[in-house]
Amino acid sequence: MSSTNSGIDWTESTWNPATGCNKVSQGCKFCYAETMAKRLHASKNPRYYNGFTLTLHDDLLTVPLKWKKPSVIFVNSMSDLFHEDIPLDFIKRVFDTMNKATWHRFQVLTKRSERLMNLAGEFNWTPNIWQGVSVEDGNNTFRIAHLQAVPAKLRFLSLEPLIGSVGDIDLTGIHWVITGGESGPGCRPCKVEWLREVRDICIQRNVPHFLKQLGGFPNKRAHEQALLDGRCWREMPDELSQRIINKKEKGEIVESTLFNS
Ligand code: SF4
Repeated sequence: MSSTNSGIDWTESTWNPATGCNKVSQGCKFCYAETMAKRLHASKNPRYYNGFTLTLHDDLLTVPLKWKKPSVIFVNSMSDLFHEDIPLDFIKRVFDTMNKATWHRFQVLTKRSERLMNLAGEFNWTPNIWQGVSVEDGNNTFRIAHLQAVPAKLRFLSLEPLIGSVGDIDLTGIHWVITGGESGPGCRPCKVEWLREVRDICIQRNVPHFLKQLGGFPNKRAHEQALLDGRCWREMPDELSQRIINKKEKGEIVESTLFNS
C-alpha cells in the first residue's frame, strides 16, 4: 500500500515505503497493521508477499514527489520507520523525499523513540516534518523525553490506544497531543479519567488536543460520539490540518483505510 485517502481522523493520505514490523510493548497487542498485512497477504497483494515481516519498497521512496496536490501524509502507517532493521541509509532516503516535497506535511510516528533520538542528528528536519511518539500508558512515558531531544519543528504524542494513566506528563516542546481508546474484539478499557487527565494538562499548557475515539467494541464511539465532558476535542496544530479535519467532518473527504502506529 503506497498511498490512499486515509481513515485516520487526523491525516489525509498514507505512504508506506516500508511495511511490516514486530511488537515492542503492550500498545502493539492488537496492532492494526499486522491484521491488515495478514489480510493483504492472504488476498495475494504483491506488496505483502512477506506478510507482516519487515519489507523495504525502494520503488516507493519518491512517490510523494509525484503527488502535486498538497496533502497531510502519514508515513509508514504499516510499519515503524525507526524499526531496528531499517538501515539508516533507507531512512535518509525517506527524509530526502520529505525534504524535497515541501508542499506536503509528513507525519512520522514511532515507538522506537530511542533509535529516533540517537539518529536524529543525521537528518534535515524541514518544517514540513512532524515527528511523534506513541505512548500507551505510564510505563512508556520515557519516549516523550526522547522525542523532546529531537530537533523537529513540530513534535506530537499519540496516546493511543490509551490503556493506562500516563500521569503528569511534561509537555515542554510538544505541539500536539492525540488521545484515543482501543477498539475491536478483546479491546482493553480506556477510563475517562485517563483521558481527562491528559485533556487537562493540554489545556494548562495550551497544547492542541485531538480525541480520536473513546474505544470499545462493537461500537467504538468515534467521531461525534467521542465526547469528553459533553464536547468533542478535535484540535490540530495548524491551519491546514484543521481545515482537513473540518472537511472530513463534513464528509468532503472520503475515508477508505485505517492506520496503525
Ligand atoms: S506497527 Fe506499531 S503497533 Fe504495530 S507492531 Fe509495529 S510498533 Fe507495534
